[in-house]
Amino acid sequence: MSFLDEIQSYRYEDVLSRIMAKNAEDVQRALLSERLRIDDFMALLSPAADPCIEKMALKSHSLTRQRFGNTILMYAPLYLSNVCTNGCRYCGFNATNRAHRQTLTLDEIEREATIIHNRGFRHILLVTGEATHVAGNDYIVAASERIRHLFCSISIEVYPMDESGYRQMVAAGVDGLTIYQETYDPKLYAEMHPFGRKRDFAFRLQAPERGGAAGLRRIGIGALLGLGQFRAEGFFIGLHALHLSRHYWRTQISASLPRICPAEGGFAPLNPVSDREFVQLICALRLLLPDIGLALSTRESATLRDNLLPLGITQMSAGSCTSPGGYANPEKGTRQFDINDDRTPAEVERMIRSKGYEAVWKDWDSCFLDRTAPSGI
Ligand code: SF4
Repeated sequence: MSFLDEIQSYRYEDVLSRIMAKNAEDVQRALLSERLRIDDFMALLSPAADPCIEKMALKSHSLTRQRFGNTILMYAPLYLSNVCTNGCRYCGFNATNRAHRQTLTLDEIEREATIIHNRGFRHILLVTGEATHVAGNDYIVAASERIRHLFCSISIEVYPMDESGYRQMVAAGVDGLTIYQETYDPKLYAEMHPFGRKRDFAFRLQAPERGGAAGLRRIGIGALLGLGQFRAEGFFIGLHALHLSRHYWRTQISASLPRICPAEGGFAPLNPVSDREFVQLICALRLLLPDIGLALSTRESATLRDNLLPLGITQMSAGSCTSPGGYANPEKGTRQFDINDDRTPAEVERMIRSKGYEAVWKDWDSCFLDRTAPSGI
């Protein structure tokens, strides 16, 4: 059964009502449970869990230490192109925004990659919009092959591909995929994506499964917080990660919870998520899924990142630029969104160390790849 089949048995509004109906007793039961059931997870996402956030945070901290030790994996995004044919209402690269459009040449990509490499990173995330006429599969393959000698792990955050596209990426040395559903509410999804290929909710939703079947070793999912109701979004992220972990057990699943940041076009969050609610969501996910990675980007402020670090986070970006060519020319180009933590990678590493953790720049080498083995079960 695919995840699409699985979520068709849940209506977004009903899930939210069930979460909102949970009470203090349900929350206590969930906190005492060794292995959360779906109803326990709902209880931890509910308003009734608010008085127990500190308890959830302690449990989340201890589970994360057990499973991941004191390590935080460091990564950096590299924006290859901001040309996009989609109309996502919340994004600075939306086709209708008057952004300065740029697609990096291979030489420019290598220059950006070298700056990132020189800052210590060995894990890189290649990002594009959706414009296959200028930045399609062959372009991403060429980019990956060009910079492969600089990194031990290359992930992509691009448009959804079919399985053969992901196999092409694996063959080019890509081992990770990040793809956020943005919102798991199909109605809101249709409103937020008025035109372009991204309108296809189901094709995007099934992309992580196609990536898993193609043998990608890391898959990151998530929702853009501020669009839908965060409690229901959190529930569907948890369900999705659970499904992927069960079906693609050779793949490391991670989740990310990006909150909407100011962007070109001036989109304001429809349902803002407070810092406290954000913490609740991170802890609830950790309690449901002790083994998944939880990523925290520079969208969040330095203070919040420092405080969230011990609560369940396992991966962090640092020193990020969100425009193509932005590492070499920070002043040039339109950013996808404004970052909130502008510390250098070295400063972030010092902060991580001061909290008793170790920043890990390399935890993998592509020579471990067994490209002959299937990933799914
Ligand atoms: S979110 Fe991605 S697909 Fe949507 S407009 Fe922005 S770059 Fe394009």
